Amino acid sequence: MNAIDTVAWFVYLLSAVMFVIGLHFMNSPKTARRGNQISAVGMVIAIIMAFVHLFVTGYRSNIAIILLLLGIAIGAVAGVVSAKKVKMTDMPQLVSIFNTVGGGAAALVALNDILTPAKAPGLVVLITAGLGVVIGSVTFTGSLVAAGKLQGVKFLRKLTLPGKGFLNVLFIVLTIASFVMLCVQPGQRLLWAVLTTVFALVYGLVFVIPIGGADMPVVISVLNACTGTAVAMSGLAIDNVALIVAGALVGAAGATLSILMAQAMNRPLHSVLAGGFGGASNASANDDGPEGTMKETTADDVAVQLVYAQKVIFVPGFGLAQAQAQRELADLGELLKEHGVEVSYAIHPVAGRMPGHMNVLLAEANVPYDELVDLDDINPQFPSANVALVVGANDVTNPAARRPGTPVSGMPILDVDQAQHVVVMKRGRGRGYAGIENELYFEDNTQMLFGDAKAGLQAVIAAVKELLA
Ligand code: NDP
Repeated sequence: MNAIDTVAWFVYLLSAVMFVIGLHFMNSPKTARRGNQISAVGMVIAIIMAFVHLFVTGYRSNIAIILLLLGIAIGAVAGVVSAKKVKMTDMPQLVSIFNTVGGGAAALVALNDILTPAKAPGLVVLITAGLGVVIGSVTFTGSLVAAGKLQGVKFLRKLTLPGKGFLNVLFIVLTIASFVMLCVQPGQRLLWAVLTTVFALVYGLVFVIPIGGADMPVVISVLNACTGTAVAMSGLAIDNVALIVAGALVGAAGATLSILMAQAMNRPLHSVLAGGFGGASNASANDDGPEGTMKETTADDVAVQLVYAQKVIFVPGFGLAQAQAQRELADLGELLKEHGVEVSYAIHPVAGRMPGHMNVLLAEANVPYDELVDLDDINPQFPSANVALVVGANDVTNPAARRPGTPVSGMPILDVDQAQHVVVMKRGRGRGYAGIENELYFEDNTQMLFGDAKAGLQAVIAAVKELLA
Protein backbone atom coordinates (compact mmCIF):
# COMPACT_ATOMS: atom_id res chain seq x y z
CA MET A 1 0.00 0.00 0.00
CA ASN A 2 1.57 3.34 -1.00
CA ALA A 3 1.13 6.68 0.80
CA ILE A 4 -1.94 7.85 -1.11
CA ASP A 5 -3.69 4.50 -0.58
CA THR A 6 -3.02 4.77 3.17
CA VAL A 7 -4.33 8.35 3.29
CA ALA A 8 -7.41 7.30 1.29
CA TRP A 9 -8.02 4.39 3.63
CA PHE A 10 -7.97 6.63 6.70
CA VAL A 11 -10.15 9.28 5.07
CA TYR A 12 -12.69 6.61 4.07
CA LEU A 13 -12.60 5.31 7.65
CA LEU A 14 -13.35 8.85 8.88
CA SER A 15 -16.31 9.03 6.48
CA ALA A 16 -17.55 5.67 7.70
CA VAL A 17 -17.37 6.84 11.32
CA MET A 18 -19.34 9.97 10.35
CA PHE A 19 -22.04 7.80 8.69
CA VAL A 20 -22.38 5.74 11.88
CA ILE A 21 -22.51 8.80 14.14
CA GLY A 22 -25.03 10.39 11.77
CA LEU A 23 -27.22 7.28 11.91
CA HIS A 24 -27.03 7.29 15.69
CA PHE A 25 -28.25 10.90 15.81
CA MET A 26 -31.19 9.91 13.59
CA ASN A 27 -32.57 7.88 16.50
CA SER A 28 -34.42 10.90 17.79
CA PRO A 29 -36.37 13.62 15.93
CA LYS A 30 -34.54 16.23 18.01
CA THR A 31 -31.08 15.26 16.71
CA ALA A 32 -32.06 13.79 13.32
CA ARG A 33 -31.26 16.99 11.39
CA ARG A 34 -27.75 17.07 12.86
CA GLY A 35 -27.35 13.36 12.06
CA ASN A 36 -28.23 14.05 8.45
CA GLN A 37 -25.70 16.88 8.23
CA ILE A 38 -22.89 14.79 9.74
CA SER A 39 -23.56 11.93 7.30
CA ALA A 40 -23.71 14.35 4.36
CA VAL A 41 -20.33 15.85 5.30
CA GLY A 42 -18.94 12.28 5.56
CA MET A 43 -20.20 11.58 2.04
CA VAL A 44 -18.70 14.80 0.62
CA ILE A 45 -15.32 13.92 2.17
CA ALA A 46 -15.51 10.41 0.66
CA ILE A 47 -16.35 11.77 -2.81
CA ILE A 48 -13.50 14.30 -2.73
CA MET A 49 -11.08 11.59 -1.57
CA ALA A 50 -12.19 9.21 -4.35
CA PHE A 51 -11.63 11.96 -6.90
CA VAL A 52 -8.17 12.91 -5.53
CA HIS A 53 -7.19 9.23 -5.32
CA LEU A 54 -8.10 8.63 -8.96
CA PHE A 55 -6.20 11.73 -10.05
CA VAL A 56 -3.05 10.99 -8.02
CA THR A 57 -2.91 7.32 -9.02
CA GLY A 58 -2.49 8.26 -12.64
CA TYR A 59 -6.04 8.47 -13.96
CA ARG A 60 -5.36 11.73 -15.72
CA SER A 61 -7.23 11.56 -19.01
CA ASN A 62 -8.70 15.02 -19.50
CA ILE A 63 -11.96 13.68 -20.87
CA ALA A 64 -12.38 11.36 -17.87
CA ILE A 65 -11.76 14.20 -15.41
CA ILE A 66 -14.21 16.50 -17.23
CA LEU A 67 -16.84 13.74 -17.31
CA LEU A 68 -16.35 13.06 -13.60
CA LEU A 69 -16.67 16.74 -12.70
CA LEU A 70 -19.71 17.05 -14.94
CA GLY A 71 -21.29 14.00 -13.27
CA ILE A 72 -20.63 15.39 -9.79
CA ALA A 73 -22.07 18.79 -10.79
CA ILE A 74 -25.21 17.32 -12.40
CA GLY A 75 -25.75 14.96 -9.45
CA ALA A 76 -25.24 17.71 -6.87
CA VAL A 77 -27.58 20.17 -8.62
CA ALA A 78 -30.26 17.49 -9.18
CA GLY A 79 -29.99 16.38 -5.54
CA VAL A 80 -30.20 19.86 -4.03
CA VAL A 81 -32.99 21.08 -6.32
CA SER A 82 -35.15 17.97 -5.92
CA ALA A 83 -34.69 17.80 -2.14
CA LYS A 84 -35.61 21.49 -1.81
CA LYS A 85 -38.52 21.49 -4.24
CA VAL A 86 -40.22 18.19 -3.51
CA LYS A 87 -43.17 18.39 -1.15
CA MET A 88 -42.98 16.37 2.06
CA THR A 89 -45.83 14.16 0.82
CA ASP A 90 -43.87 13.35 -2.35
CA MET A 91 -40.72 12.39 -0.44
CA PRO A 92 -41.27 8.59 -0.84
CA GLN A 93 -41.26 8.95 -4.64
CA LEU A 94 -38.02 10.92 -4.37
CA VAL A 95 -36.50 8.23 -2.15
CA SER A 96 -37.59 5.64 -4.71
CA ILE A 97 -35.96 7.64 -7.52
CA PHE A 98 -32.78 7.91 -5.43
CA ASN A 99 -32.91 4.13 -4.98
CA THR A 100 -33.27 3.80 -8.76
CA VAL A 101 -30.13 5.86 -9.42
CA GLY A 102 -28.26 4.23 -6.52
CA GLY A 103 -29.04 0.72 -7.76
CA GLY A 104 -28.30 1.64 -11.38
CA ALA A 105 -24.99 3.28 -10.49
CA ALA A 106 -23.90 0.29 -8.40
CA ALA A 107 -24.77 -2.08 -11.27
CA LEU A 108 -22.76 0.05 -13.76
CA VAL A 109 -19.71 0.19 -11.47
CA ALA A 110 -19.85 -3.59 -11.06
CA LEU A 111 -20.34 -4.19 -14.81
CA ASN A 112 -17.35 -1.97 -15.51
CA ASP A 113 -15.26 -4.07 -13.15
CA ILE A 114 -16.30 -7.28 -14.88
CA LEU A 115 -15.99 -6.13 -18.47
CA THR A 116 -13.12 -3.65 -18.78
CA PRO A 117 -10.05 -5.65 -17.59
CA ALA A 118 -8.30 -7.32 -20.53
CA LYS A 119 -7.83 -10.47 -18.44
CA ALA A 120 -10.82 -12.18 -16.84
CA PRO A 121 -11.19 -11.09 -13.20
CA GLY A 122 -10.79 -13.62 -10.37
CA LEU A 123 -13.67 -15.55 -8.82
CA VAL A 124 -14.03 -13.21 -5.82
CA VAL A 125 -14.43 -10.15 -8.05
CA LEU A 126 -16.81 -12.02 -10.33
CA ILE A 127 -18.99 -13.03 -7.38
CA THR A 128 -19.07 -9.62 -5.68
CA ALA A 129 -19.37 -7.62 -8.90
CA GLY A 130 -21.91 -10.12 -10.27
CA LEU A 131 -24.04 -9.71 -7.13
CA GLY A 132 -23.69 -5.94 -7.53
CA VAL A 133 -25.02 -6.24 -11.09
CA VAL A 134 -27.92 -8.51 -10.06
CA ILE A 135 -29.08 -6.55 -7.01
CA GLY A 136 -28.42 -3.15 -8.60
CA SER A 137 -30.40 -4.03 -11.75
CA VAL A 138 -33.37 -5.43 -9.79
CA THR A 139 -33.36 -2.26 -7.67
CA PHE A 140 -33.15 -0.04 -10.76
CA THR A 141 -36.33 -1.24 -12.47
CA GLY A 142 -38.15 -2.16 -9.24
CA SER A 143 -37.65 1.28 -7.71
CA LEU A 144 -38.64 2.99 -10.95
CA VAL A 145 -41.98 1.15 -10.95
CA ALA A 146 -42.42 1.80 -7.21
CA ALA A 147 -41.86 5.55 -7.74
CA GLY A 148 -44.44 5.55 -10.55
CA LYS A 149 -46.97 3.72 -8.38
CA LEU A 150 -46.43 6.09 -5.48
CA GLN A 151 -46.82 9.04 -7.82
CA GLY A 152 -50.20 7.55 -8.77
CA VAL A 153 -49.32 6.96 -12.44
CA LYS A 154 -52.60 5.37 -13.55
CA PHE A 155 -51.08 3.02 -16.11
CA LEU A 156 -48.78 1.50 -13.49
CA ARG A 157 -51.36 1.30 -10.70
CA LYS A 158 -53.75 -0.60 -12.97
CA LEU A 159 -51.13 -2.81 -14.61
CA THR A 160 -51.53 -6.49 -13.79
CA LEU A 161 -49.37 -9.45 -14.72
CA PRO A 162 -50.97 -12.73 -15.66
CA GLY A 163 -49.09 -15.65 -14.10
CA LYS A 164 -47.07 -13.38 -11.83
CA GLY A 165 -45.92 -16.28 -9.62
CA PHE A 166 -44.61 -18.19 -12.65
CA LEU A 167 -42.86 -15.10 -14.07
CA ASN A 168 -41.28 -14.39 -10.71
CA VAL A 169 -39.82 -17.87 -10.43
CA LEU A 170 -38.79 -17.90 -14.12
CA PHE A 171 -36.79 -14.69 -13.93
CA ILE A 172 -35.21 -15.53 -10.57
CA VAL A 173 -34.02 -18.84 -12.04
CA LEU A 174 -32.77 -17.20 -15.29
CA THR A 175 -30.94 -14.47 -13.34
CA ILE A 176 -29.27 -16.92 -10.95
CA ALA A 177 -28.36 -19.31 -13.79
CA SER A 178 -26.64 -16.61 -15.85
CA PHE A 179 -24.90 -15.24 -12.74
CA VAL A 180 -23.53 -18.73 -11.99
CA MET A 181 -22.41 -19.09 -15.64
CA LEU A 182 -20.65 -15.72 -15.36
CA CYS A 183 -18.65 -17.06 -12.43
CA VAL A 184 -17.78 -20.43 -14.00
CA GLN A 185 -17.18 -19.23 -17.57
CA PRO A 186 -15.30 -15.94 -17.17
CA GLY A 187 -14.03 -16.29 -20.76
CA GLN A 188 -17.61 -15.64 -21.95
CA ARG A 189 -18.17 -12.86 -19.46
CA LEU A 190 -19.59 -10.36 -21.93
CA LEU A 191 -22.43 -12.72 -22.87
CA TRP A 192 -23.20 -13.79 -19.29
CA ALA A 193 -22.91 -10.30 -17.84
CA VAL A 194 -25.35 -8.94 -20.43
CA LEU A 195 -27.81 -11.80 -19.84
CA THR A 196 -27.54 -11.44 -16.04
CA THR A 197 -28.25 -7.71 -16.35
CA VAL A 198 -31.22 -8.14 -18.68
CA PHE A 199 -32.83 -10.93 -16.62
CA ALA A 200 -32.31 -9.00 -13.38
CA LEU A 201 -33.82 -5.86 -14.91
CA VAL A 202 -36.90 -7.82 -16.01
CA TYR A 203 -37.13 -9.50 -12.59
CA GLY A 204 -37.26 -6.02 -11.00
CA LEU A 205 -40.32 -5.29 -13.13
CA VAL A 206 -42.19 -8.55 -12.49
CA PHE A 207 -41.35 -8.28 -8.78
CA VAL A 208 -42.87 -4.83 -8.22
CA ILE A 209 -45.63 -4.54 -10.85
CA PRO A 210 -48.10 -6.88 -9.06
CA ILE A 211 -47.54 -5.28 -5.67
CA GLY A 212 -50.05 -2.73 -4.54
CA GLY A 213 -52.62 -2.42 -1.82
CA ALA A 214 -51.01 -2.26 1.56
CA ASP A 215 -47.69 -3.89 0.64
CA MET A 216 -45.93 -0.93 -0.95
CA PRO A 217 -44.31 0.38 2.29
CA VAL A 218 -42.58 -2.97 2.84
CA VAL A 219 -41.44 -3.13 -0.79
CA ILE A 220 -39.94 0.37 -0.72
CA SER A 221 -38.00 -0.59 2.37
CA VAL A 222 -36.79 -3.85 0.75
CA LEU A 223 -35.64 -1.94 -2.35
CA ASN A 224 -33.80 0.50 -0.10
CA ALA A 225 -31.99 -2.43 1.52
CA CYS A 226 -31.17 -3.74 -1.99
CA THR A 227 -29.63 -0.41 -3.01
CA GLY A 228 -27.33 -0.53 0.01
CA THR A 229 -26.37 -4.15 -0.64
CA ALA A 230 -25.65 -3.49 -4.33
CA VAL A 231 -23.46 -0.52 -3.40
CA ALA A 232 -21.58 -2.62 -0.80
CA MET A 233 -21.00 -5.37 -3.39
CA SER A 234 -19.66 -2.83 -5.91
CA GLY A 235 -17.46 -1.42 -3.13
CA LEU A 236 -16.05 -4.91 -2.52
CA ALA A 237 -15.42 -5.38 -6.23
CA ILE A 238 -13.50 -2.10 -6.61
CA ASP A 239 -12.01 -2.29 -3.11
CA ASN A 240 -13.45 0.99 -1.81
CA VAL A 241 -13.94 1.07 1.96
CA ALA A 242 -16.34 4.04 1.96
CA LEU A 243 -18.68 2.31 -0.50
CA ILE A 244 -18.55 -0.93 1.45
CA VAL A 245 -19.39 0.74 4.77
CA ALA A 246 -22.03 3.13 3.40
CA GLY A 247 -23.66 0.31 1.42
CA ALA A 248 -23.58 -2.09 4.37
CA LEU A 249 -25.17 0.51 6.66
CA VAL A 250 -27.98 1.25 4.20
CA GLY A 251 -28.44 -2.46 3.51
CA ALA A 252 -28.61 -3.39 7.19
CA ALA A 253 -30.86 -0.47 8.11
CA GLY A 254 -33.18 -1.20 5.16
CA ALA A 255 -33.34 -4.92 5.99
CA THR A 256 -34.13 -4.20 9.65
CA LEU A 257 -36.82 -1.71 8.66
CA SER A 258 -38.31 -4.19 6.15
CA ILE A 259 -38.63 -6.85 8.84
CA LEU A 260 -40.16 -4.40 11.33
CA MET A 261 -42.59 -3.06 8.71
CA ALA A 262 -43.60 -6.54 7.60
CA GLN A 263 -44.28 -7.47 11.25
CA ALA A 264 -46.22 -4.25 11.84
CA MET A 265 -48.27 -4.85 8.70
CA ASN A 266 -48.85 -8.50 9.52
CA ARG A 267 -47.36 -9.41 6.12
CA PRO A 268 -45.05 -12.41 5.79
CA LEU A 269 -41.97 -10.86 4.16
CA HIS A 270 -41.40 -13.84 1.86
CA SER A 271 -44.95 -13.49 0.58
CA VAL A 272 -44.48 -9.81 -0.27
CA LEU A 273 -41.22 -10.65 -2.04
CA ALA A 274 -42.91 -13.41 -4.02
CA GLY A 275 -44.86 -10.69 -5.82
CA GLY A 276 -48.05 -9.36 -4.32
CA PHE A 277 -49.74 -10.49 -1.16
CA GLY A 278 -52.97 -12.44 -1.11
CA GLY A 279 -53.61 -11.81 -4.79
CA ALA A 280 -56.04 -9.00 -4.04
CA SER A 281 -53.63 -6.12 -4.33
CA ASN A 282 -54.97 -4.85 -7.59
CA ALA A 283 -58.48 -6.09 -7.16
CA SER A 284 -61.55 -4.22 -6.06
CA ALA A 285 -60.27 -0.80 -7.03
CA ASN A 286 -63.44 -0.37 -9.03
CA ASP A 287 -65.78 -2.17 -6.63
CA ASP A 288 -68.95 -0.33 -5.68
CA GLY A 289 -67.99 -0.75 -2.03
CA PRO A 290 -70.24 -0.88 1.02
CA GLU A 291 -73.87 0.14 0.82
CA GLY A 292 -75.51 2.89 2.88
CA THR A 293 -75.24 6.63 3.23
CA MET A 294 -72.72 8.89 4.83
CA LYS A 295 -73.96 11.36 7.43
CA GLU A 296 -72.55 14.86 7.06
CA THR A 297 -71.83 17.16 9.97
CA THR A 298 -70.63 20.75 10.51
CA ALA A 299 -67.62 22.32 12.21
CA ASP A 300 -69.89 23.77 14.90
CA ASP A 301 -71.34 20.37 15.72
CA VAL A 302 -67.87 18.78 15.84
CA ALA A 303 -66.72 21.54 18.21
CA VAL A 304 -69.61 20.77 20.58
CA GLN A 305 -68.74 17.06 20.58
CA LEU A 306 -65.08 17.78 21.29
CA VAL A 307 -65.66 20.35 24.04
CA TYR A 308 -68.06 18.07 25.93
CA ALA A 309 -65.84 15.00 25.58
CA GLN A 310 -63.60 13.64 28.30
CA LYS A 311 -61.36 11.67 26.01
CA VAL A 312 -60.58 12.42 22.37
CA ILE A 313 -58.31 10.45 20.06
CA PHE A 314 -56.93 12.14 16.94
CA VAL A 315 -56.26 9.79 14.03
CA PRO A 316 -53.94 11.46 11.49
CA GLY A 317 -53.29 10.07 8.01
CA PHE A 318 -51.94 10.95 4.60
CA GLY A 319 -54.58 13.71 4.11
CA LEU A 320 -53.15 15.61 7.11
CA ALA A 321 -49.74 15.64 5.44
CA GLN A 322 -51.29 16.54 2.09
CA ALA A 323 -53.11 19.50 3.67
CA GLN A 324 -50.07 20.43 5.81
CA ALA A 325 -52.52 20.81 8.68
CA GLN A 326 -50.31 19.39 11.45
CA ARG A 327 -50.03 22.75 13.26
CA GLU A 328 -53.81 23.23 13.24
CA LEU A 329 -54.28 19.72 14.67
CA ALA A 330 -51.71 20.43 17.39
CA ASP A 331 -53.42 23.77 18.17
CA LEU A 332 -56.79 22.03 18.48
CA GLY A 333 -55.20 19.47 20.81
CA GLU A 334 -53.75 22.23 23.01
CA LEU A 335 -57.10 24.04 23.17
CA LEU A 336 -58.91 20.88 24.26
CA LYS A 337 -56.23 19.96 26.81
CA GLU A 338 -56.43 23.42 28.37
CA HIS A 339 -60.15 22.76 28.73
CA GLY A 340 -59.42 19.49 30.55
CA VAL A 341 -60.04 17.02 27.71
CA GLU A 342 -57.67 14.06 27.50
CA VAL A 343 -56.11 14.10 24.01
CA SER A 344 -53.94 11.52 22.29
CA TYR A 345 -52.77 10.87 18.75
CA ALA A 346 -53.14 7.36 17.29
CA ILE A 347 -50.09 6.48 15.20
CA HIS A 348 -50.38 3.72 12.60
CA PRO A 349 -47.00 2.41 11.39
CA VAL A 350 -47.82 3.00 7.70
CA ALA A 351 -50.09 6.03 7.90
CA GLY A 352 -49.00 8.55 5.28
CA ARG A 353 -46.54 7.61 2.61
CA MET A 354 -43.32 6.77 4.42
CA PRO A 355 -42.32 4.93 7.57
CA GLY A 356 -42.68 7.24 10.56
CA HIS A 357 -44.45 9.89 8.44
CA MET A 358 -46.93 10.88 11.17
CA ASN A 359 -44.23 11.02 13.86
CA VAL A 360 -42.17 13.39 11.72
CA LEU A 361 -45.19 15.51 10.83
CA LEU A 362 -46.44 15.87 14.39
CA ALA A 363 -42.94 16.42 15.81
CA GLU A 364 -42.70 19.32 13.33
CA ALA A 365 -45.81 20.79 15.01
CA ASN A 366 -44.23 20.26 18.48
CA VAL A 367 -46.79 17.70 19.63
CA PRO A 368 -45.34 16.18 22.81
CA TYR A 369 -43.90 12.76 22.04
CA ASP A 370 -45.77 11.05 24.89
CA GLU A 371 -49.10 11.97 23.28
CA LEU A 372 -48.26 9.89 20.18
CA VAL A 373 -49.54 6.41 20.93
CA ASP A 374 -48.71 3.33 18.83
CA LEU A 375 -51.33 1.06 17.33
CA ASP A 376 -51.10 -1.72 19.93
CA ASP A 377 -51.40 0.69 22.84
CA ILE A 378 -54.11 2.94 21.41
CA ASN A 379 -56.48 0.25 20.10
CA PRO A 380 -57.73 -0.85 23.55
CA GLN A 381 -58.48 2.82 24.30
CA PHE A 382 -60.94 3.46 21.44
CA PRO A 383 -64.04 2.07 23.25
CA SER A 384 -63.50 4.57 26.08
CA ALA A 385 -62.95 7.51 23.70
CA ASN A 386 -65.95 9.83 23.39
CA VAL A 387 -64.73 11.07 20.02
CA ALA A 388 -62.27 9.72 17.47
CA LEU A 389 -61.37 12.55 15.08
CA VAL A 390 -59.98 11.05 11.86
CA VAL A 391 -58.04 13.64 9.86
CA GLY A 392 -57.16 12.51 6.34
CA ALA A 393 -56.67 8.85 7.31
CA ASN A 394 -58.44 6.20 5.28
CA ASP A 395 -56.91 2.73 4.68
CA VAL A 396 -55.43 2.56 8.19
CA THR A 397 -58.95 2.78 9.63
CA ASN A 398 -60.78 0.52 7.17
CA PRO A 399 -62.59 -2.37 8.93
CA ALA A 400 -62.43 -4.30 5.61
CA ALA A 401 -58.90 -5.25 6.71
CA ARG A 402 -60.44 -7.61 9.26
CA ARG A 403 -61.84 -9.96 6.61
CA PRO A 404 -60.10 -11.79 3.77
CA GLY A 405 -60.23 -10.94 0.08
CA THR A 406 -59.62 -7.20 0.07
CA PRO A 407 -56.43 -5.29 -0.83
CA VAL A 408 -55.96 -4.36 2.84
CA SER A 409 -56.83 -7.78 4.34
CA GLY A 410 -54.59 -8.75 7.21
CA MET A 411 -53.22 -5.24 7.73
CA PRO A 412 -53.64 -4.26 11.38
CA ILE A 413 -55.89 -1.20 11.58
CA LEU A 414 -56.73 1.44 14.14
CA ASP A 415 -60.00 0.32 15.75
CA VAL A 416 -61.60 3.72 15.20
CA ASP A 417 -65.05 2.21 14.63
CA GLN A 418 -65.12 1.19 18.30
CA ALA A 419 -65.06 4.78 19.56
CA GLN A 420 -68.38 6.16 20.84
CA HIS A 421 -68.49 8.85 18.12
CA VAL A 422 -66.36 9.08 15.01
CA VAL A 423 -65.80 12.23 12.96
CA VAL A 424 -63.96 11.85 9.66
CA MET A 425 -62.41 14.90 8.01
CA LYS A 426 -61.65 14.50 4.30
CA ARG A 427 -62.24 16.50 1.13
CA GLY A 428 -64.79 14.28 -0.52
CA ARG A 429 -65.33 10.71 -1.59
CA GLY A 430 -61.74 10.01 -2.63
CA ARG A 431 -60.44 6.58 -1.78
CA GLY A 432 -57.30 5.72 0.13
CA TYR A 433 -54.04 4.41 -1.29
CA ALA A 434 -55.40 0.86 -1.65
CA GLY A 435 -58.21 2.16 -3.87
CA ILE A 436 -61.17 0.78 -1.92
CA GLU A 437 -64.14 2.37 -0.18
CA ASN A 438 -63.95 2.62 3.61
CA GLU A 439 -66.75 0.84 5.47
CA LEU A 440 -66.15 3.06 8.49
CA TYR A 441 -67.80 6.02 6.72
CA PHE A 442 -71.14 4.21 6.57
CA GLU A 443 -71.28 3.16 10.24
CA ASP A 444 -74.06 4.53 12.48
CA ASN A 445 -71.61 6.26 14.83
CA THR A 446 -69.66 8.00 12.03
CA GLN A 447 -70.15 11.54 10.75
CA MET A 448 -68.29 13.15 7.86
CA LEU A 449 -66.90 16.69 7.88
CA PHE A 450 -66.06 17.28 4.22
CA GLY A 451 -63.41 19.77 3.12
CA ASP A 452 -59.67 20.32 3.11
CA ALA A 453 -58.21 19.23 6.47
CA LYS A 454 -56.50 22.57 7.10
CA ALA A 455 -59.60 24.69 6.44
CA GLY A 456 -61.77 22.18 8.33
CA LEU A 457 -59.54 22.23 11.40
CA GLN A 458 -59.37 26.03 11.33
CA ALA A 459 -63.19 26.13 11.31
CA VAL A 460 -63.38 23.64 14.20
CA ILE A 461 -60.78 25.65 16.20
CA ALA A 462 -62.78 28.86 15.66
CA ALA A 463 -65.98 27.11 16.78
CA VAL A 464 -64.27 25.63 19.87
CA LYS A 465 -62.90 29.06 20.82
CA GLU A 466 -66.36 30.56 20.47
CA LEU A 467 -67.84 27.86 22.71
CA LEU A 468 -65.17 28.33 25.36
CA ALA A 469 -65.24 32.15 25.28
P1 NDP B 1 -54.81 6.97 2.63
O1 NDP B 1 -53.88 7.26 1.52
O2 NDP B 1 -55.41 5.63 2.71
O3 NDP B 1 -56.02 8.02 2.60
C1 NDP B 1 -55.78 9.38 2.67
C2 NDP B 1 -57.13 10.09 2.64
O4 NDP B 1 -56.85 11.47 2.85
C3 NDP B 1 -57.83 9.97 1.30
O5 NDP B 1 -58.94 9.14 1.40
C4 NDP B 1 -58.21 11.41 0.91
O6 NDP B 1 -59.61 11.47 0.69
C5 NDP B 1 -57.82 12.23 2.14
N1 NDP B 1 -57.18 13.51 1.79
C6 NDP B 1 -56.28 13.76 0.83
N2 NDP B 1 -55.95 15.05 0.80
C7 NDP B 1 -56.66 15.65 1.79
C8 NDP B 1 -56.77 16.98 2.27
N3 NDP B 1 -56.05 18.00 1.71
N4 NDP B 1 -57.60 17.23 3.29
C9 NDP B 1 -58.33 16.23 3.86
N5 NDP B 1 -58.27 14.95 3.44
C10 NDP B 1 -57.44 14.66 2.42
O7 NDP B 1 -54.02 7.35 3.95
P2 NDP B 1 -53.68 6.52 5.25
O8 NDP B 1 -52.66 7.36 5.95
O9 NDP B 1 -54.92 6.12 5.97
O10 NDP B 1 -53.02 5.18 4.75
C11 NDP B 1 -51.74 5.12 4.13
C12 NDP B 1 -51.79 4.22 2.92
O11 NDP B 1 -50.60 4.45 2.14
C13 NDP B 1 -51.80 2.75 3.29
O12 NDP B 1 -52.55 2.02 2.36
C14 NDP B 1 -50.31 2.37 3.16
O13 NDP B 1 -50.12 0.98 2.90
C15 NDP B 1 -49.91 3.21 1.96
N6 NDP B 1 -48.48 3.49 1.89
C16 NDP B 1 -47.80 3.82 3.03
C17 NDP B 1 -46.45 4.02 2.97
C18 NDP B 1 -45.67 4.28 4.24
O14 NDP B 1 -44.49 3.96 4.28
N7 NDP B 1 -46.30 4.87 5.23
C19 NDP B 1 -45.71 3.96 1.67
C20 NDP B 1 -46.55 3.65 0.54
C21 NDP B 1 -47.88 3.44 0.66
P3 NDP B 1 -60.22 12.67 -0.18
O15 NDP B 1 -59.56 12.60 -1.51
O16 NDP B 1 -61.68 12.41 -0.21
O17 NDP B 1 -59.90 13.93 0.55
